[in-house]
Amino acid sequence: MGKPLYKRILLKLSGEALAGSKGFGLDTETINQIAVQIKEVIRMDVQVAIVVGGGNFWRGRSGESMDRTTADYMGMMATVINGLALQDALENIDVITRVQTAIEMRQIAEPYIRRRAVRHLEKNRVVIFAAGTGNPYFSTDTTAALRAAEIEAEVILLAKKVDAVYDKDPNQNDDACKFDDVSYIEILNRGLKVMDSTATSLCMDNKIPIKVFGLDDPGNIKKAVLGKSLGTYIHS
Ligand code: UDP
Repeated sequence: MGKPLYKRILLKLSGEALAGSKGFGLDTETINQIAVQIKEVIRMDVQVAIVVGGGNFWRGRSGESMDRTTADYMGMMATVINGLALQDALENIDVITRVQTAIEMRQIAEPYIRRRAVRHLEKNRVVIFAAGTGNPYFSTDTTAALRAAEIEAEVILLAKKVDAVYDKDPNQNDDACKFDDVSYIEILNRGLKVMDSTATSLCMDNKIPIKVFGLDDPGNIKKAVLGKSLGTYIHS
């Protein structure tokens, strides 16, 4: 099967990754497939923390005429829905999971407490971080960078709709070139749309490598953990 490259990972699942081909809401089949992959990774003795996005329901910038802060709180709520769905799918296959939210909602989930999150990971529980950073004007990519730094994850696995980083949008340009690896600074200088610049800078400053790959094949999570050639590797 191969040996995992990492002991502790931060997996970022965008909301879209949970919507499957529907593109909106939750696709049970897709979520179940992702859960099975996560279980396999846990079995390799890799500690798994997850940050979930919310774009399959709502993004702050979708609320054009709304107050931005309110719209962002709605986006954070969307990530909680996704976190609970993922927890349910994982616990259905006997993977012990804790959801921690950056905005307190104690009846639903634990509040985010770094030390407690690390303790769960050490006990091989999956920890799902929901409600982003708890602050408007941020993204769940920035949340992934922040939580990865806090829990000292060795890598961020960034599972996206697009399978890698390209020099231009591959859906609009047939001649788009894929990067096998690229530096943070090149991403920032070229304005490559992989993460927002806040998230990229946070990773750069804290030297957290990022592996970007597509979730079209859920098996990619395991491949990424095993260090198989896949997607794009972002580093110093
Ligand atoms: N959000 C926020 N603060 C955070 C994280 C997320 O305000 O720390 C809001 C923001 O409105 C964002 C939405 O939650 O658009 C959903 O997150 P994101 O767009 O990052 O989800 P993804 O694109 O990964 O599905």
